[in-house]
Amino acid sequence: MRLSRYFLPVLKETPAEAQIASHRLMLRAGMIKQASAGIYSWLPLGFKVLRKIENIVHEEQVRAGHVPMLMPTLQSADLWRESGRYDDYGAEMLRITDRHGRDMLYGPTNEELITDIFRSHVGSYKDLPLTLYHIQWKFRDEVRPRFGVMRGREFFMKDGYNFDLTKEDALHAYNRHMVSYLRTYERMGLQAIPMRADSGPIGGDDTHEFLVLADTGESEVFYDSAITDLKLGDRIVDYDSPEDCAAIVDEWTAPYARTDETHDEAKFNAVPEDRRRTWRGIEVGQIFYFGTKYSEPMGATVQGPDGKAVPVHMGSHGIGVSRLVGAIIEASHDESGIIWPEGVTPFHVGIVNLKQGDAECDAACEALYQSLTLLGLEPLYDDRDERAGGKFATMDLIGLPWRVTVGPRGLKTGMLELTSRRTGESEELSPEAVVERLADIYAAHVLQPAF
Ligand code: ATP
Ligand code: MG
Repeated sequence: MRLSRYFLPVLKETPAEAQIASHRLMLRAGMIKQASAGIYSWLPLGFKVLRKIENIVHEEQVRAGHVPMLMPTLQSADLWRESGRYDDYGAEMLRITDRHGRDMLYGPTNEELITDIFRSHVGSYKDLPLTLYHIQWKFRDEVRPRFGVMRGREFFMKDGYNFDLTKEDALHAYNRHMVSYLRTYERMGLQAIPMRADSGPIGGDDTHEFLVLADTGESEVFYDSAITDLKLGDRIVDYDSPEDCAAIVDEWTAPYARTDETHDEAKFNAVPEDRRRTWRGIEVGQIFYFGTKYSEPMGATVQGPDGKAVPVHMGSHGIGVSRLVGAIIEASHDESGIIWPEGVTPFHVGIVNLKQGDAECDAACEALYQSLTLLGLEPLYDDRDERAGGKFATMDLIGLPWRVTVGPRGLKTGMLELTSRRTGESEELSPEAVVERLADIYAAHVLQPAF
């Protein structure tokens, strides 16, 4: 993309309404614009990051054997009356009446709709296990929408639902989700810690939330610092193996890690003192096992091996896709702007032309742009006729992890400058070496279509 043809409405001023860094930076970097309270338009740069995050979520869900689909945002109230949640959900649910006087709602989550699909089409235990998921906009009329996309009213969420014959199978699905979530967050350059949580209006016994540590998190968290040393890395996981998944879950749930809702002072005090940490966390996902809570009242049964109809064991599993954009920025920024992890960066590298209009500089930038593009990388080429200082400030603000600077001085010896946004360190390299280096860096990150 050439910046002169892009739409990147960066702001010089710090917007007064934004209280936290991610909100400020998303506004300043021209990623979002508020449409009304808690509802945002995603401008091109923000949209690109949202799509990258969405893709990683898809890839990891498909890898775990879960099946993508898409359900609508608007739902009929009747299904929610069947489960008993129409009245329970309260003022957070946006209720709408259509022209025929039928009660509708903008879905805050999809347990009812998916259970209805399941009961209409699945009748035998032989069709299990099954996990269906989608990534769709949700609406919750939050009392206090705030912090930009972190607590919106309209937000983008992955929600998945497992259907299993037995509790044991459903607990494998639970574990599979936990492992796939750990991989998902790791690929985004994030550490999200699973913490035992309260189930709230979804209901159920087993539930973990995934929290990203940040000063601006809304939850107070208590944990054993040993958990922050755990990494999946490139470990190969057999998602069909209950033992494999359970072993990873055991590893990640052994160290103490809880939110204030489930905090147990005595257990926390059993952690060696030098490893006890109290901080704040941003909830970026949650998994639940809730047994037959929906399948029983809604008649979602299958015929078991003995011919008897039994309600299926279910769980639901969510990832806050739009919240993650903010959470990643909270975890990765400095005074000058955002620092995107390679896995989610909107463009892989910025090209700064120090002397736009100079034949040699322009030609070198064009050549680099072409080579990178041919490799499948997306450069953002700042080809505007602007001062170098302004170009650098924009690149720092929007946070691309790598920048190549092309100027007359370097070109005299055929050199370009490659700079890391994270460390600020620069290296003089030939154009070929720059391309090679970037290809190496991104080899593990360039996305393949997931489904
Ligand atoms: P919270 O406790 O933050 O209100 P929740 O527990 O009600 O969230 P879930 O039902 O678990 O939310 O939804 C799954 C995920 O969707 C959450 O982990 C969170 O990342 C995201 N999410 C929930 N509410 C919002 C919101 N208002 N804005 C943005 N993302 C949200
Ligand atoms: Mg939650």
